[in-house]
Amino acid sequence: MKKSAHKPLIGILGGTFNPIHFGHLRMAQELSEALNLNKVRFIPSANPPHKPTPLVTAEHRSAMVKLAIADNPLFELDDCELRRTGASYTIDTLQSLREELTENVSLVLFMGSDAFTKFNTWHRWQEIIDLCHIALVRRPLVANKAPLPNVLETFLRNHYTEDVNDLQDSSTGFVTMQSITPLDISSTAIRNALQYNHSARYLTPNNVLEYIDTHQLYHTTIT
Ligand code: ATP
Repeated sequence: MKKSAHKPLIGILGGTFNPIHFGHLRMAQELSEALNLNKVRFIPSANPPHKPTPLVTAEHRSAMVKLAIADNPLFELDDCELRRTGASYTIDTLQSLREELTENVSLVLFMGSDAFTKFNTWHRWQEIIDLCHIALVRRPLVANKAPLPNVLETFLRNHYTEDVNDLQDSSTGFVTMQSITPLDISSTAIRNALQYNHSARYLTPNNVLEYIDTHQLYHTTIT
């Protein structure tokens, strides 16, 4: 257990969650344990800047996140990006979290390796590490892809730590890479399965599947 002198650590998992699946949930669970986190906030992206506009509304995607995490006291939904207009930039979310929480909290932004390969295209990406730490996890599909852009190699060299205590000792500034159970699950694969009337059982919780069914969310769309 964490000693009380340590800063509280809050994990942040932003995503389109179109829909949420066990890959997201398992990543959050395993990172919580590996990094000794106090909470994980799931933050659905209302208007993802790097993806085509999802046909399923942010309200539906957020409702599915709420259902998926309902039985885990460590997890909570933060719908702050649904309350903003315009593109949902992570830097804006982190800044508003910093205003809401005190400086004495460590924020740890979770990222799959696929997302990290494009991190240098994110809005004001170089400022993000001044507001949080980053925890990277390898994603099966992209494990053997091309090397990182030089600028991200340098970024990693400057911020990388293997000592998870660093994330408690400072509230921002470190990048760690954690091994988790590789689950080759994606929202894209779930949308595709449902569009062709295949089952998405065992890829996402049953209450999410029921919600999708009730609202007929993916049966005619693939984006
Ligand atoms: P899509 O297939 O629509 O692109 P996705 O499955 O990648 O969606 P997102 O909501 O875009 O899901 O992902 C949010 C974050 O979770 C990203 O950082 C992504 O890398 C990570 N992530 C998603 N699925 C997995 C997985 N199976 N294992 C590890 N990380 C994952």
